[in-house]
Amino acid sequence: MITTTELKKFHNLINGDQTPASTGDMLDNMDPSTGEVWAKVPRSTIEDVETVVASARIAFPSWAALSSIERAQYMRRIGDLLAKHGDELSALETKGNGWVIRETSYGLIPALEQIWYDAAGAASEGSEGETIQMGQSSFGYTVREPLGVVLGITPWNAPLFTFTIKAAYALVAGNTVIIKPSEHATASSLRYGELLAEILPPGVLSVISGLGSEIGDALVSHPEINKVSLTGSGTTAKAIAKTIASNPKPLIFELGGKSPNIVFADADLDKAVEGITASIFTGNAGQLCVGGSRILIQRSIFEEMITRIKEKMLNPAITRLGDPMNPESTMGPIANFAQYEKVCSYIELGVEEGAEIVFGGRHGGDVLLSGQSQLSNGYWVEPTLLKVNSNSLRICQEEIFGPVATVMPFDTEEEAVAIANDTSFGLGAGVWTNDLSRAHHMIRKITAGNVWVNTYGRVGPGLPFGGFKESGYGTDSILEYTHKKACVIELG
Ligand code: NAP
Repeated sequence: MITTTELKKFHNLINGDQTPASTGDMLDNMDPSTGEVWAKVPRSTIEDVETVVASARIAFPSWAALSSIERAQYMRRIGDLLAKHGDELSALETKGNGWVIRETSYGLIPALEQIWYDAAGAASEGSEGETIQMGQSSFGYTVREPLGVVLGITPWNAPLFTFTIKAAYALVAGNTVIIKPSEHATASSLRYGELLAEILPPGVLSVISGLGSEIGDALVSHPEINKVSLTGSGTTAKAIAKTIASNPKPLIFELGGKSPNIVFADADLDKAVEGITASIFTGNAGQLCVGGSRILIQRSIFEEMITRIKEKMLNPAITRLGDPMNPESTMGPIANFAQYEKVCSYIELGVEEGAEIVFGGRHGGDVLLSGQSQLSNGYWVEPTLLKVNSNSLRICQEEIFGPVATVMPFDTEEEAVAIANDTSFGLGAGVWTNDLSRAHHMIRKITAGNVWVNTYGRVGPGLPFGGFKESGYGTDSILEYTHKKACVIELG
């Protein structure tokens, strides 16, 4: 087990080697449960960007020249490797961003394994083409080719998952990949890269750590980077789009959300309570892009549902804030100080906007975990439900990204759809109903990349995952990491 007394150092992965930043400078990574530094990671420079891109570019032709079957074999070996190193990786993920170990070990690592195996199974898709007869003596055909060097930029809330979903499909398609993890939770990605380098040839996969504000522009605008896939905020997406405006390249943007979770009176209410609470409170302390942060409940069951949600979240057997490394804890802290301040300020704003606190609202380790002095400076926020009368409040329109949800009533299906779609985002939506026709109507009428009925947040290999509107565009999938070339042959 890792303890805060050990200060661990991690390095970039460049050309298959563990590489410090060229200046030797390092950044602090904080343990969000204690507010203490627990790891040091490289503060890379523009010089390091040049080195990492050059090694990825050099590795590209040989990797692209492998058959899809050969690349699939690498993907399977990585999947197998995860089984051996799952405990170590889940512990690093938990230490770095506070996502409780019971979820990173039992849920996350198996999901990563599945992604690598799914990429292996999809390998041939990346080399399939069509033949088109063009006349008596000529025909056309299409070939798919890898793009070159792909840059994957990942967020702090789910570093290993977003690393994997980008790297696996881009690699199996024949690209080389550079991952730039968040400055806030970097260590798990650096160690992951080190493990993957045991299997992949040098330069095929690289990981570079540093501040987005210092190396982000140099990476995304680099002429030898052929595609950028960002999972992050709309603010960063806009900055990237601006940076590459004069030298455009393809982008995938997987951004934020303000997802509705809609409960009709005919639903199985036990299941709905389960789905609502897991999606925004206990699941990674609400720091999930698809978090069901706007709860909409049909008026006839509004008070009953609020009582049930409250009883569940106030039950100490369910809501156990505590050391995220302890398997008994069901909720960890907010992953970094800046985000902690943001979440707290939104709770204050909600009260100013006239929202009623149904439960929660408090924050700070000294307040919430007073019996555990080592956690008193951590970034703790308790699950908070805010009752609102209008969806136009800022707390209903802006992504909070923490264990904070709004709840409001609706009367009809049409009203539920109108409120659900009254947002600039379009990432996810939950619908709880036992009426099959209603379920299908809601699916068609909701503008979001993912709609779940009588479940919430399920993603899986084979299903596209992406957003509409300001939640982004594109999905991390094998075809998006290839281009399609048209070829015509005249037989004469
Ligand atoms: P963020 O602030 O946008 O950062 C994301 C990544 O972009 C980090 O690695 C960051 O590096 C880097 N970055 C910052 N400025 C950059 C620039 N100018 N050029 C290139 N890279 C730059 O997002 P976050 O706060 O880490 O993550 C939370 C957000 O991610 C939320 O909005 C959440 O909804 C979204 N998210 C979406 C999905 C999805 O699949 N749709 C999944 C998870 C999270 P630094 O950390 O060094 O600044």
